[in-house]
Amino acid sequence: MGNALVTAAKIEEEVQKALAKSLRKEPSAIRMDASVMDDLGGTSLDFLDMTFRLEQAFGIRLAHTTILDHIEETFGEGKAIDSSGALTKDAVAVLAARLGNPAGLEVGMFSDEVAKFVTPNTLAQGVREALASLPAKCTHCGAEKWESPDGAKVKCGGCGKEAAYTDGDTLAKAWLTQFAKEKGLFG
Ligand SMILES: [Zn+2]
Repeated sequence: MGNALVTAAKIEEEVQKALAKSLRKEPSAIRMDASVMDDLGGTSLDFLDMTFRLEQAFGIRLAHTTILDHIEETFGEGKAIDSSGALTKDAVAVLAARLGNPAGLEVGMFSDEVAKFVTPNTLAQGVREALASLPAKCTHCGAEKWESPDGAKVKCGGCGKEAAYTDGDTLAKAWLTQFAKEKGLFG
């Protein structure tokens, strides 16, 4: 596991490029710790667009379901968001770990306010997580010869096919299950 072919600098560069295109800005205007919604003016449509661009650039599939929806799907309705639309304590613990403990994230805040905590760094983390699922061997021919001519897309040096990564939703769910178990959440 792991992926040494795509550097952190390349991921940052591609995230800035994708966001700049989606938001019609210069790449230099995309601060990695800015709020995509509040600081950069991103809408939910822009999120879909930047996600698609990153998937194309790296040959990966990012999560399309929010972590809050994963909590409710996995542990049951009301586990992430209570009947008034507010975040539960356990959901806040998950979000804090997932989003790097952003200032202002607190129990009882409304779930629709969570999107403002998403930063270019959050997207870069999703990319890193997907890239780290690179299998040891090519799933098509069994060769152990990964290469990346452009530093973003990884191909098999044996058969030429693109690496088959695990999709972002599967990875997010696996992470969530493990994290909840470790911390004793959603019991
Ligand atoms: Zn191959």
